[in-house]
Amino acid sequence: MLHDFSYVAPTAVDELFTFLATHGTKTAVFSGGTDLFVNIRGGLSAPDYVVNLKSVPGLSDLSFDPKAGLSIGACVPVTRVLNDPTVNKKYGVIAKAAGELATHQLRNRATVVGNIVTASPCGDMSSPLLCYDAQVEIASAGGSRIVALKEFITGVKRTVLQPEEIVTRIIVPTTYAGTKGNYLKLKRIKGHDLGVVAVAMIATSKVIRVAISSAAPTPVLLPDFPASASAETIKESARKAISPIDDVRCTKEYRAFMVEEFIDRLHAEVKA
Ligand SMILES: Cc1cc2nc3c(=O)[nH]c(=O)nc-3n(C[C@H](O)[C@H](O)[C@H](O)COP(=O)(O)OP(=O)(O)OC[C@H]3O[C@@H](n4cnc5c(N)ncnc54)[C@H](O)[C@@H]3O)c2cc1C
Repeated sequence: MLHDFSYVAPTAVDELFTFLATHGTKTAVFSGGTDLFVNIRGGLSAPDYVVNLKSVPGLSDLSFDPKAGLSIGACVPVTRVLNDPTVNKKYGVIAKAAGELATHQLRNRATVVGNIVTASPCGDMSSPLLCYDAQVEIASAGGSRIVALKEFITGVKRTVLQPEEIVTRIIVPTTYAGTKGNYLKLKRIKGHDLGVVAVAMIATSKVIRVAISSAAPTPVLLPDFPASASAETIKESARKAISPIDDVRCTKEYRAFMVEEFIDRLHAEVKA
């Protein structure tokens, strides 16, 4: 049974931020709602106000600029990212992870931004975005600020967002655009499932970048490795950086084992 809340659907940016400046502490904003409404129904979240962002102008843009990079607006659903030719060409690992997130139906509603703000250790979008050095644009009535994704998520389901703020978009710079790489996700079943553990890797002629999900309270971005780094060097660094736990989906030993297995596979792939 859902608890009572008021539904608000602002149609202007000013209207949204004025509302959040007054009611932010009692409000949950949403776009896809695939996490929020599950949490409300499960009693994990009980906002007085639920604010739909989808009619706010400017939040549904997905665009690429050769200098500024890729911009993924707050209301862009995962399906749009998955099917976007530029994302596939220049940021292939983001597209790969988008295809791993839930089902067609979910992806048509769920957003990339919602996935990041949820800050689940097993969120599919964080590791690839960390590899590409994504930035998070945050705005409120007071203005806007940019935070590196690696600093945005601070713990399990915790971020630096303040109650009066929203994420307006994710910016992915061109630094690593067009590099090779891949995203490997371990699931309990062959179909759609939350990740038991996942690793993203990209490689340029100079550097290898690796991020790991579901193996620590937050997604982990390893320090950069030179292009010549061996899989063993990367695995050694991963071993120090992760702190996997036992849960209903997996033991910590299997998680640690699969992180290393995925690093081996991805390293062989980017070196091929
Ligand atoms: C059946 C099912 C399967 C799933 N499978 C997967 C899976 O395989 N992989 C995976 O990673 N996830 C999975 N999820 C979780 C979920 O679908 C994703 O995390 C999704 O990307 C969330 O996006 P959303 O737009 O629906 O978020 P919402 O529910 O709209 O929002 C999520 C949270 O972020 C806040 N929020 C949303 N947008 C903003 C914003 N712009 N600014 C500030 N705060 C904001 C909301 O208040 C809420 O707290 C699954 C969920 C379900 C129900």
